[in-house]
Amino acid sequence: MPELPEVETVRRGLQRVIIGKKISAIHIHETRFRFPLQPKVLCKWLMQQTIAAVERRAKYVLCRMSNDAHLVIHLGMSGRLLWCDGRRELEKHDHIQFVLEDGDELRFRDPRRFGLVDAVAPGKLEEYKHFRHLGIEPFSAEFAPEVLFERTRGLVRPIKNYLMDANKIVGVGNIYANEALFRAGIHPEKAAGKLPLHDWQRLAKAIRKVLETAIASGGTTLNDFYNSEGEMGYFQQYLKVYNRAGEACDRCGATIRRIVQLGRSSYFCPQCQPKAGKKK
Ligand SMILES: [Zn+2]
Repeated sequence: MPELPEVETVRRGLQRVIIGKKISAIHIHETRFRFPLQPKVLCKWLMQQTIAAVERRAKYVLCRMSNDAHLVIHLGMSGRLLWCDGRRELEKHDHIQFVLEDGDELRFRDPRRFGLVDAVAPGKLEEYKHFRHLGIEPFSAEFAPEVLFERTRGLVRPIKNYLMDANKIVGVGNIYANEALFRAGIHPEKAAGKLPLHDWQRLAKAIRKVLETAIASGGTTLNDFYNSEGEMGYFQQYLKVYNRAGEACDRCGATIRRIVQLGRSSYFCPQCQPKAGKKK
């Protein structure tokens, strides 16, 4: 399943090729996705419009059109965006074709159909139903240690579960939560409300660093598809704890442990991430 870094990689790739192009036709071969596709809405807001910008909100890719409407795409479990010449043969799961004036095409391919393709009217993005409950973006100014510290006071839920809650913070998937907590020296079961401000300072920085590293390495695995299969590309070489239970910690040599939180694996170094806060 694509995570924020993969989606950001897709956004950057798309931005390089699609800005300034006009949509001259939309061919829809399938409407049964996780949320049914609405052909009329798509055509109403996107047809004959030029793509002005490619943006991202959480794990959604957004194309802002010249009329200020947005094309919204979520890759779901298996979605991909293919940028190609319009003469390229359609494949089985190429469900939607956005035909551009110059003959190039953006295709949405999604074998499992958990994805989403939609259009949002000008000025309606903030109140869009899928965006209303989304948490803070890790790369926004709002993602500040002071803000996170304030918002978590009194919370007893474990910090790792808090980081992975998209209603609180978007885009921090399991791998990234594990890695960021290791880098910040914080035990995944520690209560979010017990983290002092200086822990949040390290943690906010670690989250950004981990995501940035993943984005940078994701960019190297692209071919003519925009990689959205959740392959981590070269990011794997940076993993310090994830999937390394029983191995020695790079930093201190202690044995990395695995526990389960909300059904997801958490990996940590008991020495670098002590449960009782004896860290500096
Ligand atoms: Zn260690």
